Amino acid sequence: MRTVDLSIAGRSFGDLLALRPDGKDQWGLTMWRCLCVCGEYSRVRRYDLLRGATTSCGCKRVLSSRALMLAMNKRRERGAA
Ligand SMILES: [Zn+2]
Repeated sequence: MRTVDLSIAGRSFGDLLALRPDGKDQWGLTMWRCLCVCGEYSRVRRYDLLRGATTSCGCKRVLSSRALMLAMNKRRERGAA
């Protein structure tokens, strides 16, 4: 049996709140069930959440570079912990 990684459960990534692991994608990467602030559920790669590649269900797919910079700065201030 594989150990289920719950390390990001309850954590927010942009507008997404990680709820629970939701299987794997075709590459074997762990997918997470996430709740977006807009109320939509989304299935997102854990890897994309952690590197900040996916921060919403898609309702804000077009992010200005400035907004992205602000988000990255905010994350840096908060630290890795
Ligand atoms: Zn959304």
